[in-house]
Amino acid sequence: MADLYVNGEWRAPVAGGSREIRCPADGTLAATVSEGTRPDAEAAIAAARRAFDEGPWPRTPERERGALLLRTADVIERDAEVFARAESLDTGKRMVESEYDLADVVSCLRYYGGIGGVDAGRVIDTGRDDAVSRVVYEPVGVCGLITPWNYPLLQASWKVAPALLAGNTVVLKPSELTPSTSVLLMRALEEAGLPAGAANLVLGAGPETGAPLSEHPDVDMVSFTGGLATGRRVMAAAAATVKKVALELGGKNPNVVFADADLDTAVDFALTAVFLHSGQVCSAGARLIVEDSLHDRLVDEIVRRARRIRLGGPFDPDAETGPLISAQHRDKVEAYVAAGVAEGAVLRCGGERPADPALAGGHYYPPTVLDECRQDMRVVHEESFGPVLTVERFTDEDDAIRIANDTEYGLAGAVWTQDAGRAQRVARRLRHGTVWINDYHPYVPQAEWGGFGHSGVGRELGPSGLNEYREPKHIWQNIQPRPQRWFRG
Ligand code: NDP
Repeated sequence: MADLYVNGEWRAPVAGGSREIRCPADGTLAATVSEGTRPDAEAAIAAARRAFDEGPWPRTPERERGALLLRTADVIERDAEVFARAESLDTGKRMVESEYDLADVVSCLRYYGGIGGVDAGRVIDTGRDDAVSRVVYEPVGVCGLITPWNYPLLQASWKVAPALLAGNTVVLKPSELTPSTSVLLMRALEEAGLPAGAANLVLGAGPETGAPLSEHPDVDMVSFTGGLATGRRVMAAAAATVKKVALELGGKNPNVVFADADLDTAVDFALTAVFLHSGQVCSAGARLIVEDSLHDRLVDEIVRRARRIRLGGPFDPDAETGPLISAQHRDKVEAYVAAGVAEGAVLRCGGERPADPALAGGHYYPPTVLDECRQDMRVVHEESFGPVLTVERFTDEDDAIRIANDTEYGLAGAVWTQDAGRAQRVARRLRHGTVWINDYHPYVPQAEWGGFGHSGVGRELGPSGLNEYREPKHIWQNIQPRPQRWFRG
């Protein structure tokens, strides 16, 4: 087994380990991959360091670096079926969702590929005729990229594309649960012509192969997407060597529905907002915040439809959503629901593992609605990351905003109303990085993504996503150098 990609070579782990990846939908063997340890991460860091200090990539014109990303997008598009299958087997998500993810991966690579060389910095008017001054962009250096299991390839592309475009060299460390498409991504970059050492891949457990990326002095930046607790650990470790840090740590996202919203549409999107990919989405609309007068009609309809959502594996054509990623994660989601009920929430549907024997081999948990919730309940303010909707009521606009902003997170949220002025007012006052008006979940790679508060540091996507991976440098040139005679002697 040789799935570690270090200095342009496919290698077996130093300690020779391997790991079986089991499909969360039924426990079948999805893949067997290399299991690296700390020395493998250190070798990958050393390769990236050398490639940054001595290799061609940082000195390759940005336009050419962009062209490589465009070629990589073509390879991925050509092999989309292979990528989508691998993603579905690792994550358990439906094939159709993996196919959507693949399309988003290709868009991300094409967006960054297409802006290569467009912004070469700026010239400054010094107000003098003996000096010229300009600001150029330099890559940060060696970047450690740590990605989670919910959107493995998409999250990797959000980091790898801007990091490589900016001229950095990278070490990618995917979640130990979902490594397959990161291996395929490296193969696509290799086929597109990436020089040795510019992108490296380590597989293995977080403390073994992820932690070195936030600790090692030869890494200049660490970009992490995952849970809050691990994110804090990464940031604390990075402080010792004053690394640049970018974090996306999820959210507890409010979906605010006013009484004048179109009921059918609001119900439909409320379901997608929270139950897509069984709630394992950082921007999931897990908190429904509804105007008192609409509460009963809205929640009754959501519950009616949630009960009918069909669970199933990646290749079940009738399935509407899939399993949770692991048995451990399902235990965690279950514990949140139990805690909510113990704290006074009313369980309206779900809340029990499905009895269907056809689902017994997977980590399934049904769409669950907890009504009459309060912000002080754990299930409302902590991220369950499962198919669990909590419902809170509000009385007026100020009340809605107060409840929606009453979270340590601030990643995303939505407001539903037919009053255009109110939509804009509320959208501006929500302290969340993305706000949808009468919609939920869409994003475009041209617009920034990231959170306020504990949802993270820095932005992915858009021009700011690129700026995370490059540093502006001011170059001043005296074009008529002469003695200045500041000091007489
Ligand atoms: P983690 O935050 O632990 O995992 C994210 C990534 O970090 C994985 O690649 C993981 O590797 C790696 N990692 C783990 N420990 C370290 C470490 N000490 N140093 C560096 N990297 C490390 O996510 P969990 O799987 O534990 O999920 C916990 C919770 O996080 C979820 O329940 C959910 O609430 C949230 N989450 C948020 C996501 C988001 O999109 N913002 C995505 C996924 C989870 P490995 O998998 O090998 O341990």
